[in-house]
Amino acid sequence: QFPDLPRLTTKASTGRATPRDLASIGYTLAALPPIIEALSKTSSSLLGVLRDRIDPSQALQQQLQQAISEAPPLSPKEGGFIRPGFHARLDHLRDLTKGGKEWIASYQAQEIARTGINSLKVGFNSVFGYYLEITNTHADKIPADYQRKQTLKNCERYITPELKTHEEQVLKAEDESKTLEYDLFVQLRNLVAEQAPKLLASSEAIATLDVLLSMAELADGNEWTKPELVKDTLCEVVQGRHPVLEMTLPVGTFVPNDTKLSERGGTLWLITGPNMAGKSTYIRQVALLQILAQMGSFVPAHSARLGIADRLFARVGAGDDLSRGQSTFMVEMAETANILNNATEKSLVILDEIGRGTSTYDGLSLAWAIVEHLHNEIGCRTLFATHYHELTKLSELLPGVRNWNAAVHEEMGKITFIHRIAPGPAERSFGIHVAQLAGLPSKVLDRAKEVLDDLENKPTSMPAQAMETVKRKRKKAADDQPGLFGGE
Ligand code: ADP
Repeated sequence: QFPDLPRLTTKASTGRATPRDLASIGYTLAALPPIIEALSKTSSSLLGVLRDRIDPSQALQQQLQQAISEAPPLSPKEGGFIRPGFHARLDHLRDLTKGGKEWIASYQAQEIARTGINSLKVGFNSVFGYYLEITNTHADKIPADYQRKQTLKNCERYITPELKTHEEQVLKAEDESKTLEYDLFVQLRNLVAEQAPKLLASSEAIATLDVLLSMAELADGNEWTKPELVKDTLCEVVQGRHPVLEMTLPVGTFVPNDTKLSERGGTLWLITGPNMAGKSTYIRQVALLQILAQMGSFVPAHSARLGIADRLFARVGAGDDLSRGQSTFMVEMAETANILNNATEKSLVILDEIGRGTSTYDGLSLAWAIVEHLHNEIGCRTLFATHYHELTKLSELLPGVRNWNAAVHEEMGKITFIHRIAPGPAERSFGIHVAQLAGLPSKVLDRAKEVLDDLENKPTSMPAQAMETVKRKRKKAADDQPGLFGGE
């Protein structure tokens, strides 16, 4: 029962509101008094302020309710939507048109009796108006005062002075009733428009109330806690949870994690770990908690001490913007440029992978320089999820950088994701394991392991290493099956 009141009010102010819109405004206003009453029972000063801003506009509500019928049409021109009893003249005109129909019935009976023609009918059409219709078999019984109006195949249509007078009265009453109804509608619409400022203030208070109520329900039903907001630039969360993922996963399966971004705990955390380990979830979770806290909500955590951030910057997901001619890498760099140019030491920054859309060394170099800049020049709180293990060396060079990893459990060559954020860098990236879980053919996986071994044991350039193993394989295949490679 609470439609978009600002939209309806604007429609009324610009003369576009329909009878249905006015009825909706009426219902909405009728819903306000119980809300005001409920708000009067609380001791909260904020709710008191909201209560005082809600104006039930009782007089307008009553007028709308009395005037407009329950299921009004979309167009005011259709008419018939003003309730009986609202306007005496309108009621009178409507009686006239309705009474006209009764009059027709009695006039028809009177003329049947006078002429003795039982099949005589009084009818109406929009071109010829009212007429008396008599079949040709009774042509000899037609009284002298009947004037021929129209000739059809088997019958003739007539008019009498009496019927003509009646016709004029009815049509006039119908016209007048429609015009009057439309005028009444416009008056009501103007009344709504006059009250627009009041209606908008009420609906804004209701919207605020709606947000507060939603936050209260979430906090109450999901063990959220009241965060402590502090002036220092820190972000300390004990057992934080992702507010959305927690609700979509089976109850009790979401793994909470701590955060301690601060001068002592390090302001820039590098988070390594395999794909699917929970890095993105974790960094988004911290950002969401910060937003919730700053909008006045409780947060899904055991406890949280958060320094107010001036802005939150997020570079997550690699969305192409091909329609605007931007490649994935270009979008990523543009977003990163925005962060580096605008973040301050009071900002909170989350970065989910940097430099993936280019060559490994290019990407790594950029990521390295970006971390240095965030740490040395800006000094903001930063969570940086990355695949570049090389970056973890930065913790030895920069005092505010700390390594954390999304831990996995490995047993007998199989890995399980435990979704826990643990101190230190990830040991390995487990990319091939994850590819196996995703269903890559075993031939490809075996070959990838070989290439990886080569690369890890002889860290020269990748193409040279890969070529070496290609040659070795061809040699082995040729030995096993002579002739296959042209007798090499
Ligand atoms: P990554 O960024 O490391 O590739 P994601 O954050 O995308 O990993 O997480 C992959 C999946 O793991 C998520 O879709 C979610 O189902 C699950 N997951 C992540 N974090 C948690 C958590 N803390 N508790 C339970 N499940 C989680």
